Amino acid sequence: DIAFINGRFLPWHEATVPIEDRGFQFGDGVYEVIRTYRGRPFELDAHLNRLDRSAHELSLIQPYTRAQWTEWIQQGIRAAGYAEAKVYLQITRGVAARDHVFPPNVAPTVVMTIRELASFPAKTRETGVITKTCEDLRWGRCDIKSVNLLANVLAREEAKRAGVFEAILVKEGLVTEGSVSNVMVVQSGAVVTAPEGPRILSGVTRTVVLELARAAGIPIREEFLTVESLYTADEVFLTGTTVEVLAVVQVDGRTIGTGRPGPVVKALASRWAALTGESPLL
Ligand code: PLP
Repeated sequence: DIAFINGRFLPWHEATVPIEDRGFQFGDGVYEVIRTYRGRPFELDAHLNRLDRSAHELSLIQPYTRAQWTEWIQQGIRAAGYAEAKVYLQITRGVAARDHVFPPNVAPTVVMTIRELASFPAKTRETGVITKTCEDLRWGRCDIKSVNLLANVLAREEAKRAGVFEAILVKEGLVTEGSVSNVMVVQSGAVVTAPEGPRILSGVTRTVVLELARAAGIPIREEFLTVESLYTADEVFLTGTTVEVLAVVQVDGRTIGTGRPGPVVKALASRWAALTGESPLL
């Protein structure tokens, strides 16, 4: 595994952050998770754009240029030597005596880790996954990819305890997204997903999948869905860096469609695989 702090690669066990880092004490920071396909970081610019945006929204200083990040990420991936890797980037406001207000003249703490990416079980992809809805307890700026993940952690744990794969978050009766993914449904042949805005993280995978759907001539609607419309959808699926395009066959014990991945999710998953080079277009 590869570790990097503030512009320097260093041995994993030496890669530590001081106890007064504001990421640790306040969750005052932002992050990204990028995966490789065939050893190359996927949609790197989209992830780095989102990192810049998240940092900007919190008045965090993003100290490195795009070229510098790209160079370090590629260097790290090469050094790690994994078939496929998961790159984690994090910027926190830095180290300062604990006080809520921004500390003056403090340099941000920038961390990168690179770990092996286990391939997603093919069997799970074929059968689809089961899910449950959970109350969306998050704050009003879910568009910022902040390290404050407590509500996501609690929802994910609730899902695990219930023996299901993902928690689908519901705010005031409307589906926002998953705890680690975006949620899409198919209604009468159209793909419907929550609109970009403060209620969801604008997923890099979400954007690419919507482009794939458009290219395939599938109509798209960006609007919030009720829980009831989730239950009665023809298909439900998740998108995200780790889940890619993943069919959901059950929500809260209710079977979606036929209980097997439907034609639209299969078509989009196959286009996704073709795009990422995982397999030829079927
Ligand atoms: N929504 C949430 C809450 C997430 O944590 C993630 C991260 O994977 C996503 C959506 C999907 O985003 P992306 O496709 O950029 O990985």
